[in-house]
Amino acid sequence: MVKLNENFSKLKKNYLFIEIAKRIKAYSESHPEEAKRLIRMGIGDVTRPLAPVVVEAMQKACAEMGVKETFRGYEDSGAGYDFLKDAVSNYYKSFGADVSSDEIRISDGAKSDCGNIIDIFGSGNTVLVTDPAYPVYVDSNIMNGNDVIYADSTEENGFAAMPDKNIKADLIYLCSPNNPTGSVYNKAQLKEWVDYALENNAVIIYDAAYEAFITENDVPRSIFCVEGAKKCAIEICSLSKTAGFTGTRCGYTVIPNDLILKDSAGSDVKLADIWARRQGSKFNGVSYPVQRGAEAVFTPEGQKQCKENIAYYQENARVIAKTCDELGIKYTGGVNSPYIWLKCPNGMNSWDFFDKLLTEIQVVGTPGAGFGKNGDGWFRLTAFGTHEATAEAMERLKGLLK
Ligand SMILES: *Cc1c(COP(=O)(O)O)cnc(C)c1O
Repeated sequence: MVKLNENFSKLKKNYLFIEIAKRIKAYSESHPEEAKRLIRMGIGDVTRPLAPVVVEAMQKACAEMGVKETFRGYEDSGAGYDFLKDAVSNYYKSFGADVSSDEIRISDGAKSDCGNIIDIFGSGNTVLVTDPAYPVYVDSNIMNGNDVIYADSTEENGFAAMPDKNIKADLIYLCSPNNPTGSVYNKAQLKEWVDYALENNAVIIYDAAYEAFITENDVPRSIFCVEGAKKCAIEICSLSKTAGFTGTRCGYTVIPNDLILKDSAGSDVKLADIWARRQGSKFNGVSYPVQRGAEAVFTPEGQKQCKENIAYYQENARVIAKTCDELGIKYTGGVNSPYIWLKCPNGMNSWDFFDKLLTEIQVVGTPGAGFGKNGDGWFRLTAFGTHEATAEAMERLKGLLK
């Protein structure tokens, strides 16, 4: 008889966005007229088109693929072309992180690497996830049969959980700027996590998907801006939010050459080597045109064009934050992040607030409870909409809550 991976039955029943879609569908069917004015401020997807230099680079690369002399098949290593790894390495150096090309592997995005990286670790690790969190960290560990413990991100600590010396974790997931809370770790806070990891021989898996949204000087763009991190951290990043690549698919994962652990026989194992082995067996690289498009992101013109899109979203974030200020609603995020994480008014729970916004002002957000227990009573709005829709939604919110 075929045996199934029964860990899947331990996953939470409804993936957050499926439940949201279900409620929107039910409402739209029963209220077709009202549903026409729906404004979606829920799903974390970008809406601005790709930067023109990126499109140009991809078109040129596609043309190359149609000519015998410049056609490319499988990439030798599947780790990414040197032109792109070099561009990423230089990008890291531009904000003070010393990451060399051979420490970088190009991927089809951060979600797959966040999930797949678990393959290089054994079973029985204590996996620490900050709560609330991006669901992939927890779900992929549960699928692999790992137990997960939580570090509480709460109103009291500004939704930036710090290490607890009394708890010994082996693997630690951190995300800064954070999805869903928009909170960040400053350099001193990140240093505390790095010191904790070094003391406990733990590995930090650092999700930097929103690094390009950072505006404050003391907030590192990479964990490798922190001393000691190259001995204890893996960084996973993506062009999805930084350059609008959610539908184009490209990311990169950094495993430093200094990240060396002992196996049970006491021998040194370079984590980058076993990740390369894993990827070599199960992944065949990112398409050539997409890698050329990604390369263009890191050119001066590409950076300028991508920053214009980010500035567009940041303006929305500012409008949402200002509205919360006017309404006396507490929130985190918005400054270094496209997310505003707000406290539901009048002690409402997050799904009730979701239903209230959906049915009374036709605005869709994301209930905080879907990201973990500390998310209940909180709500995420995203700045990825248009200026017009964001302004309209905020006017409606003022009308509802004033
Ligand atoms: C959007 C997002 C990613 C990016 O995922 P991709 O697979 O690269 O599109 C990674 N981490 C977090 C926390 C995100 O919100």
